[in-house]
Amino acid sequence: MAKSITELLKSGVVIGDGGYLIELERRGYVDSGSGREKVGTGRGSGQFTPEVAIENPDALRELHREFLNAGSHVLQALTFFGTREKLNRAGYGADTERINSVAVKLAKEVAGEKALVAGSVSRTQLTEREGMASLDKSRDHIAEQIRLLKDAGVDFLILETFFHLAEMKVALECAAAAGLPAVATMSFRPLITKCTDGHTPAECAKVMADLGAAAVGANCEQDPKRMLPLLREMRGATSVPLAAQPAAFRTTEECHSFTRLPAFPDDLETIQISRNEFIEFGKAARQEGIGYIGGCCGCNAAYIRALARGVEESNKRL
Ligand SMILES: [Zn+2]
Repeated sequence: MAKSITELLKSGVVIGDGGYLIELERRGYVDSGSGREKVGTGRGSGQFTPEVAIENPDALRELHREFLNAGSHVLQALTFFGTREKLNRAGYGADTERINSVAVKLAKEVAGEKALVAGSVSRTQLTEREGMASLDKSRDHIAEQIRLLKDAGVDFLILETFFHLAEMKVALECAAAAGLPAVATMSFRPLITKCTDGHTPAECAKVMADLGAAAVGANCEQDPKRMLPLLREMRGATSVPLAAQPAAFRTTEECHSFTRLPAFPDDLETIQISRNEFIEFGKAARQEGIGYIGGCCGCNAAYIRALARGVEESNKRL
């Protein structure tokens, strides 16, 4: 196993892992928040915080094992929504240090020498709730989480599920200040044409690459087919490797994001797509210039195995 994400990206298509929170919610360990927040209408994003790391570590360890066994070259520590800001609102603020450090420890234990471990850093939700004036507060929270992840020994960062390019810029600056390489992926909703603060995928890709991201791309919200056009737009704007971690939920012509569909979060089984679409996505990765490919919400180990199979089949054709 290569020692850094940059080396790994040079060695071929890197296979990431799948989505942790929705899978663990399905297994009974994570609170979706649907009982107390307006989710499913797009007006609330639910809880989906990562306290499972300290409350049910065996469940998280097992899911890491499943992804590794399915072919992941990278395991993400379950630190998504792990800033003090989001954990405070979920009632776990006082556990911020412990959740982040235990999550990294569990991922490293399972990865051993077989996979790299990435710290996941996502939006704080301050920008959605309080507007652009809150970016300085975001910076403090993101910088704090990155410091905790670095202290815990992550190999690199995955900055993911950012809706505002402005907040992604803050996160990339914090990653650079900490000296950690970062894969940077935006999430586009309700349509793939623009992020929430109005930038096209091409603009996002260029800005993220200029700020030093090791790979740039998109994650969550769309199924692979729906995400592909936005990735192609990014491909045209930058020469750094692309990263893609789509969701496994079917979206519509009118709404390209599953978290804006009424099925989120309590009816997701009705829009689950087949793993076959991930075999096809894996086959297309190299040709589409995707250097880092994984899955997000709705992707369990079967989907990662499907991706790995697709990538392997396309390698054989070389
Ligand atoms: Zn997701």
